[in-house]
This record gives sequence, C-alpha cells and structure tokens, in this order.
Amino acid sequence: EPVPSAEMDGFCRIFGVETEYGVAVTGANRPVDAGQVAMTMFQPVVSRSRSTNTYLTNGSRLYLDVGSHPEYATAEARNPREALAQDLAGERVMRNLALKAQRKLRESYGGQATIHVFKNNVDSAGHAFGCHENYLVRRFVPLETIERQLLPFLITRQLYTGAGRMTPDGFQITQRADFLDEAVSSATTRSRPMVNTRDEPHADPDAFRRLHVIIGDSNRSQWATWMKLAVTHLVLCVIEDAFRRGGSSGFEDWAFADPAAANRTVSRFLDAPDAELSLASGASVTALELQRRYHSAVESFVAGHREAMDAALAGETSMRGMSESTAAVSPTAVILEQWDRVLSVLEQGDYDALADCADWAAKRRVFKALRHRRPDVTFVQLEQLELDYHDIANGRLYGSLADRSQMRQLLTADETEHAVHEAPQDTRAALRGRFVEAALASGAQFSADWTHLTVTAPERREAVLLDPFSAASTSEFETLMNTLR
Ligand code: ATP
Ligand code: MG
Ligand code: MG
Repeated sequence: EPVPSAEMDGFCRIFGVETEYGVAVTGANRPVDAGQVAMTMFQPVVSRSRSTNTYLTNGSRLYLDVGSHPEYATAEARNPREALAQDLAGERVMRNLALKAQRKLRESYGGQATIHVFKNNVDSAGHAFGCHENYLVRRFVPLETIERQLLPFLITRQLYTGAGRMTPDGFQITQRADFLDEAVSSATTRSRPMVNTRDEPHADPDAFRRLHVIIGDSNRSQWATWMKLAVTHLVLCVIEDAFRRGGSSGFEDWAFADPAAANRTVSRFLDAPDAELSLASGASVTALELQRRYHSAVESFVAGHREAMDAALAGETSMRGMSESTAAVSPTAVILEQWDRVLSVLEQGDYDALADCADWAAKRRVFKALRHRRPDVTFVQLEQLELDYHDIANGRLYGSLADRSQMRQLLTADETEHAVHEAPQDTRAALRGRFVEAALASGAQFSADWTHLTVTAPERREAVLLDPFSAASTSEFETLMNTLR
C-alpha cells in the first residue's frame, strides 16, 4: 500500500531518543560491581518479561545489553516536546529501578549502599557511551547528502547542546570530543559514524530511513533535549525539501576540512571562542558564525513554508517559559526564536545567561561559584560534583538548581509522570502501549520490537505496525488484542 502523500510531501517526522546510563554504587560494605548493580536493577524486568529487553505500557523500550549500561529508547514521537516528555519518563523509570535495587542491596549487604545512575557519556574508566537521536527522513535523500550537510551543524550545535565536562586540561563544553575523534573524522570516509549506518528504518524501507545520530551528548537540561531535536528537525526539513525540488539547501559548501579537529575545537570553545574552523572549500569560519548561517538559511526557508511546517508540529503544545504569544501562533517560530536568542547570548559572550538552559553553562556557573567560595577546591571534588549533576537516582545538584528556578523546566512533574504511563497518542506507539498493557493484564507471554507485536504463548500471534505515523487500529491488531481478552 502506498505511503500517504501527506507524509512523503510534508514536513512531518518521527523522533526517538535512546539514552544509555552509567551505573555505580558507593557506600556498600563489600565491593559490588556495576554489572551486578545493573542486573539487580533489572530483576523486576526479568521477572516480568523473562528477558532484560522489554517494551513498556508507554510504548518505550527498556533494555540491558551485556555490560552495565541500561538503556531506555523512547516511543516514537511526532514532535520534540513529546520526545522530551518520553525521555524524562525514561529518567523516572530508571530512577525507580535504581531505588528498588538500592533497597535490596541494603537488605542483603546492610550498610548504606547508594546506587548512582548517570545520565552522562563518559564513565570513570574513560569509556564513552551514547545518547542517540533518531529522526525519520525521506528515503529519496541520499544518506551521504544528509551527512555532508548536517555534520557541520551537528558539530557546532554543541555550543548550546553540549553537556560540558571537567578534564584535567580544563573545562570543555562537550562530553566526548576527545573520544569521538575516530568517529567524526571517518565521517568523511567510508564508515561515517556521526550517524550509525545500519539501515534499520523501522518503517517502509522504500519510503523512509531512520537517521541515527550518535554524536550528541546526553542532556539533563530539558531545554537542551528539546532544542537539539527541534533545531535538527528544521535543518533536516531544508535538506529534504531542497532534494525534493532538485534545488539547493544552501548547506552544500559548509563541510569541514577536518571534522574531528573542528569537533575538538568546538569542545574547547571557552578557551578560544573565535577559533577559525577550516572548511573543505578552503574558507574558514568560527563555530558561532556557522550556526548563524544555518539559522539565517533556516529562517528564510521557514518564511516560505511556515504553514506546512507548523502543521507537522501541530501536536507540539506550549511549554513553560516559552513565549506564549509566539507559541499560540507558530511552533516553528518558537524554535527559531529560541535558537536566535541562544546565538545572540553566545555572540555577546554572556555565558552565565545560558546557565538555565545549556548543561555546560549550568555546570560552569556552579564550578565558578564554588571555586570563588573555596579557592582550595580540588579537581577530584569538582569531578564528584559533576557526577552528582548527572546522577538521576541520588544526585542533588540538578534538582536543587531546578527547585531554585536556576534551570528551566519546560514540563511539569505531572506531565513527566503522565508520560511514564501513556504512550504518545498520535503514533503507532499508542497501539504498542495498549498491547503491552493488555498482555500484562492477561498474563500472556509477549514480545515486541518497533514494528511487531507478538503473543508468544499460549498460541503464537502477531501484528505488524509498519507505519510509525499511524495510531489507527487494524484488523490484525484487533485480532491480536482479542487473544488477550
Ligand atoms: P542500538 O543503537 O541501541 O543498537 P537501535 O538504535 O537500533 O539500537 P533502539 O535502541 O531500539 O534501536 O531505539 C530505536 C529508536 O528509534 C527509538 O527511540 C524509536 O522510537 C525510534 N524509532 C522507531 N521507529 C522509527 C522510525 N521509523 N524513524 C525514526 N525513529 C524511529
Ligand atoms: Mg538503542
Ligand atoms: Mg541506537
């Protein structure tokens, strides 16, 4: 059956965020390794679904591969706000698992074992782990085109999406620039790991691909999570539309001569905000200038396509702290406005003005204040404080910043709690959520992946959900649901 043209022609998109967490335990009476902690966290999952890989009633995927990095992959969302809600739900799910496991550890080992679950990207042993963004894009745009035109944007957007990191050589605005060298540099050669090249569209492969961005940091800032999805979406709209018309996006000549070097330079933005980055064309540009160019190009594009772009984000209801009047008029305008504001603030060099929205700036302000109060504070102490910021189970710093309104909260606690239980209602995740709920209630054995729902016992039955945009029930789905009644 052909793909509805509204989805091929328009600007609608599917968003998903995968977050890997780091775990650790302190205060235990005897050594407990991270793998053990992760397994303890996943005991309730295993006893429920006989596997460390399961789907939840909100349509998301919760799993633990080998090793000790539990992962939560959000259900398919049609807009960045919904994806943010689902990602925050993931934090809550992980936190609940951690606190349950912590009680168990304390019962069996005694003592004051404390479980830490870090939403960051580098562990104490120096291993990096990821936060992947998933964007549905139209298959007619070659992956090479997307990569060439998007990579300079992804590298420089870290000016406001970077999570920041203390290193012995100073404070960087990203977590992983020093780890991603290989990844980013080979983006110009065959293996292009700025995006994962596995072709798993989880949708009609003739119509769509799933762009799998792997160079972003995990964010605690709600604004940063929303912003990275929102702005990347707009840039993708321009690239897709140019290809559809056989025209130019304007981004063709912005590829870096050496993406890895550019990435390292951007990460050291605070040392040299005006550092020039060499482009493959022979020109050079600062990171901020390049972001400005993307912003201007997108702004002109939006001027000609605003209605259609707004329609694609129609489900993006207003959020706290966003300009109400603009939000009522246009979700696309809200994104452009936030983007413009953050670039202006960076241009003025007023980094503290970003401390309520950019994770790196929030941390930097805290470190500065602490160094001022206690000039003898050590690197190790700052490192501890930094870890605390990322700890979604027992950390205090981020929560206290939020409580004191020093960190913008776009969604209320109720809205997050809602997303723990409810799938997005305008994608196939709604059907998956209903299925998981019914399967759990009936006690049937089930399994799922993004495109399949399966009852495995007492009798095997399956429904296929190939269209991620569709929350409409099918007869196959109803038949499957009937086996659970
Ligand atoms: P990994 O990288 O961990 O090996 P993966 O990236 O293949 O695995 P998952 O961890 O299962 O996959 O996460 C898939 C993500 O893609 C989810 O967040 C999901 O919502 C999202 N997604 C599902 N279908 C689509 C689609 N058609 N287009 C874009 N994103 C999608
Ligand atoms: Mg994954
Ligand atoms: Mg992935």
